[in-house]
Amino acid sequence: MSTSPPGGRLAPFSTTIFAEMTALAVATGSVNLGQGFPDTDGPAEILEAAIAAIRDGQNQYPPGPGVPALRAAIADHQRRCYGLDYDPDGEVLVTTGATEGVAAALIGLCEPGDEVVMFEPFYDSYAADAAMAGAVAKMVTLRAPDWSWDPDVLRAAVSPRTRLVLLNSPHNPTGKVFGRAELDEVARVCREHDLVAVTDEVYEHLVYDGEHVPLASLEGMRERTVSLSSAGKTFSVTGWKIGWACGPAELVARVRAAKQFLTFATGTPFQHAVATGLAAGERLVAPLRESLRERRDLLCDGLESLGLAVYRPAATYFATSDVASIGETDALAFCRELPARCGVVAVPSSVFYRDPEPGRTLVRWAFCKQPEVLRDALVRLKALVP
Ligand code: PMP
Ligand code: GLN
Repeated sequence: MSTSPPGGRLAPFSTTIFAEMTALAVATGSVNLGQGFPDTDGPAEILEAAIAAIRDGQNQYPPGPGVPALRAAIADHQRRCYGLDYDPDGEVLVTTGATEGVAAALIGLCEPGDEVVMFEPFYDSYAADAAMAGAVAKMVTLRAPDWSWDPDVLRAAVSPRTRLVLLNSPHNPTGKVFGRAELDEVARVCREHDLVAVTDEVYEHLVYDGEHVPLASLEGMRERTVSLSSAGKTFSVTGWKIGWACGPAELVARVRAAKQFLTFATGTPFQHAVATGLAAGERLVAPLRESLRERRDLLCDGLESLGLAVYRPAATYFATSDVASIGETDALAFCRELPARCGVVAVPSSVFYRDPEPGRTLVRWAFCKQPEVLRDALVRLKALVP
């Protein structure tokens, strides 16, 4: 069997940066602050709910759109948290993580040659998904230190071929939470040009400063928005791959059409367990959020004390630092050398930009790790500074 990288339109997407960096961490025995996964389990009651579902015989194909209990829990969550009403039959779709949600949305909603506007740095699968859909990605750049963007650039990115705007807030890798005025601007462009919005909200519950506002809750947006999220981050179960899409029936039907030929359906027992988790809501999520806030500050304070310029994130699992502040010129080279220099792995944010220049020296550090792991990493990173 050939192990050569793929050709054709997937040629630029051979190995994800997360796979490369986690393999490097394992091979070198480094502390892995690269890939964003927690190193502790989620709440015992949802783990027990998954085990109970398996013991209860929930082990065969579920209905393609998702088990009714989870679709009802998702609709209830959207109503309770955001005042958004969705019919669990037809307006809610369970996906295999938000990863499949984004892929199915782009494949289902775009025709070859359509354009998709997104913000860079972008979550890595977005550009690959656009390529799989035969769509063309157009970028609007977020710029440090506050990850602001120019509304004129958004307007200029829209053309008669634009089909949709893909928005990730809270945002990976920067940790930015798009504010009301920014969302208003995106919504205005969508309404003016009759665009669909697809939102990736997987970090919706991991906000430390400010407030997460779903784009769908803005005037005139519910009818044109597919909102995506996932249980992975909210309940520290990134390996379960339970995600969902909510939106008007005609848009969700297109996402479902793609989903049914990507995976058809998604892990039955985990769907039951996530339904339990969503029903418990804040009781399970608030302690995780508070502990992540402390770990964000532990990591950011530690990196700053080493002389690194740090952009403290308002949300997510990730902090960004500019390694130009310690004389580095290339984030990718820095991250590839870091295990040998210090025994720590991080992710170069430069790979999340199509135009690498604005991100050339930006490095992303995951803080969804136990405090002692973060402290160990900070001790190791002292080797960076004389
Ligand atoms: N979108 C963003 C912004 C992410 O950071 C991730 C990674 N967790 C995903 C989507 C993928 O989510 P899932 O694991 O639910 O597929
Ligand atoms: N979302 C995780 C991150 O940003 C990685 C998920 C993956 O490995 N694809 O680090």
